[in-house]
Amino acid sequence: MGKIQQKNTNSKLLDQIRAEIVEKNICPDLAKEATNLVMGVGNNDADILFIGEAPGKNEDLQGEPFVGAAGKFLDEMLAGIGLDRSQVYITNIVKYRPPNNRDPLPDEKRAFWPYLVRQIMVIKPKVIITLGRHSMEYFLPDRRITQIHGQPKRIKFGKEKVVIMPLYHPAAALYNASLKETLIEDFQSVPKVVELINNNQ
Ligand code: URA
Repeated sequence: MGKIQQKNTNSKLLDQIRAEIVEKNICPDLAKEATNLVMGVGNNDADILFIGEAPGKNEDLQGEPFVGAAGKFLDEMLAGIGLDRSQVYITNIVKYRPPNNRDPLPDEKRAFWPYLVRQIMVIKPKVIITLGRHSMEYFLPDRRITQIHGQPKRIKFGKEKVVIMPLYHPAAALYNASLKETLIEDFQSVPKVVELINNNQ
């Protein structure tokens, strides 16, 4: 399938996933309060998929992930490796804003997990970059982000293998200078990780 055809197919499949979340009334308490269901943004056929936690206030209002302060920082780090958000795909594990920006609850993460899995199956990224521990813990349970941040890990994912690269959350790094430095450093190794995966295929 050509690139454009693939993108059109993926776009339809991602729309179906969105429709199902609405139809099945996933997390009705969050849905009731939300302005938008925030599915994701970017290239639906990307090599690099970023997964954050949940939309905040700005994301809820605009219907797009990572558009507030943390998002600006993410855009800066992407620019630092010669990319922008149209070349990667960005989503969250939880697709509705939790009230007052509280952490997503285990039940909310569990409810949205099957839909995140389906997004991954459609996009088929070469590397999944988890931002913060909420999305990391689903791929790399029982691991500590302080010990494994920036280290790519190949895991079994259904019938496929996928590389997970856990990074600190950009929002956490905004208020902690040493974490910010670590995150920027880890981020700079992303192109090398993609290149290594490409060479090993
Ligand atoms: N933090 C997240 O984890 N996701 C967003 O979309 C915005 C902030």
